[in-house]
Amino acid sequence: TDLFTSPDYFLLDELLTDEQKLVRESVRNYVKKEISPIIEDFAQKAEFPEQVVLQLGELGCFGPTIPVEYGGGGLDYISYGLMMQELERGDSGIRSTASVQGSLVMYPIYEYGSEDQRRKYLPKLANGEWLGCFGLTEPDHGSDPGSMTTHFTDAGDHVILNGAKMWISNAPYAKVAVVWAKDEQGEVRGLIVERGMKGFTAPLTHNKWSLRASATGELVFDNVKVPKENILPNVKGLKGPLSCLTRARYGIAWGVVGAAMDCYDTALRYSKERIQFDKPIGGFQLQQKKLAEMITEITKAQLLNWRLGVLMNDEKATPQQVSMAKRNGCEIAASIAREARQIMGGAGITGEYSIMRHMMNIESVITYEGTHDIHLLITGMDVTGFNAFK
Ligand code: FAD
Repeated sequence: TDLFTSPDYFLLDELLTDEQKLVRESVRNYVKKEISPIIEDFAQKAEFPEQVVLQLGELGCFGPTIPVEYGGGGLDYISYGLMMQELERGDSGIRSTASVQGSLVMYPIYEYGSEDQRRKYLPKLANGEWLGCFGLTEPDHGSDPGSMTTHFTDAGDHVILNGAKMWISNAPYAKVAVVWAKDEQGEVRGLIVERGMKGFTAPLTHNKWSLRASATGELVFDNVKVPKENILPNVKGLKGPLSCLTRARYGIAWGVVGAAMDCYDTALRYSKERIQFDKPIGGFQLQQKKLAEMITEITKAQLLNWRLGVLMNDEKATPQQVSMAKRNGCEIAASIAREARQIMGGAGITGEYSIMRHMMNIESVITYEGTHDIHLLITGMDVTGFNAFK
C-alpha cells in the first residue's frame, strides 16, 4: 500500500501539466522502492549509498533542465522542483546529491563551458557515470566567498592551483570538481579539476549529525597542474558561482517542502492511531493546532514554489525571490519537523520514523547555499536598497 498521501489542500495538482505529474510520479515511485527502504540504515551508519548515483542518472534527476542533446532532461523548472520535492521527501542528502550534480556542476559547464567541455563532461554527469562536486566554501570564507584565497598562477599550457575548500558535498566520491578560484588578477574563475590530478585530494568529513547519508569532504589543492582547457571560458567574477546557487536554491525551496510533507504525513497518521486518555491524540485541540498550522504552512510554501517555478520558466525569477523561497521553505520545514516529532512522543526520536532524520538534515539545509541570516539580508537589501552585510 502507498503509505504517502501528498498533501494538496488547495488542489494545486490542477495547476500541473500531465508531464509534470508523470515526472513526480516516477520519482515518488523510485523513492518508495529504492530510497525509503535503505535510507535509515545508511544515515545511521553515516554512509553514502553510492548506488543512487547511477539510479538518479537513469531516472533523469541530474540536470533535468539541461537540453537533451547534452544528456539533460530538457524539462521545465516545475518538473525539476517536483523532482527535488520527491527526493527530499526521502532524504535531504539524496536531494543534495542531485542538486549539486545538476545545478552546481552541470549547469556551470553548460552555461559557461566551451563546446568541448560540454561534450566531454555533460553526458557522463547526466547518466551518473561520473559524480561531480562544487567547491566554493573555504575553511575561512563561508558566507563571504568573495574573500576566498584559493588561487592559480599561469604556467604556459596549464595553471598551478593552490588552496583548500571545505564542506563540499559529494567531494569524496566525485570524479569531477567545479572549483572557484582567483586568477593572478584576483578575478574569480571556474576550473574543472579531475580526480587523479597530482596534488589533489578530497578527504571525507567525519562526525556529522546532519546529512549523514550524504558524503561531505574537503578539496585540497597542493600545486595541482590544471590544463588551461579546463578553465570555464565564459564567466568571470562571483556571478559564476552565484548563478549556479540560484538554480540549486530553487531546488532546495521545493525539496524542503518535501521533507515537511513527509513529517506532516507521518505525524497526522500517528495522531489518528495513537490513543491516550481513551481517544486518538489527533482529537485533542493542542495536537490539532500543530497539524493545522503545518498544513497551512505547507500549502503556502507549495503555492510560492509553484509561482516561482512559473517565473523561472519565463526567465523572470530574481535571485532575491529564490532567496525568499529557500529561506521560507527551510524555516517551515524546520519548525514542522520539530512539531511533528513532538506529536510522536517518544516514538519520534527513533529511526523507526523519518522525522528526526529530516529534522537533523534540515539543520544543514538551513545553513548551506546561503545561511538563513544571509537570505534574510538579501531580502532586506532588496526592499530597502541598503546593504547590511558589511
Ligand atoms: P559563516 O559564514 O562563518 O557564518 C557563521 C554565522 O554568521 C552564520 O549564522 C551566518 O548567518 C552569520 N553571518 C555571516 N555573515 C553575516 C553577516 N554579514 N551578517 C549577519 N550574520 C552573518 N559549500 C560549497 O561550496 N559546496 C558544497 O557542496 C557545500 N556543501 C555543504 C554541505 C554541508 C553539510 C554543509 C554544512 C555545508 C556545505 N557547504 C558547501 C558550505 C555552506 O555553504 C557554508 O557552510 C555556508 O555558506 C556558511 O558558511 P560558514 O559555515 O563558513 O559560516
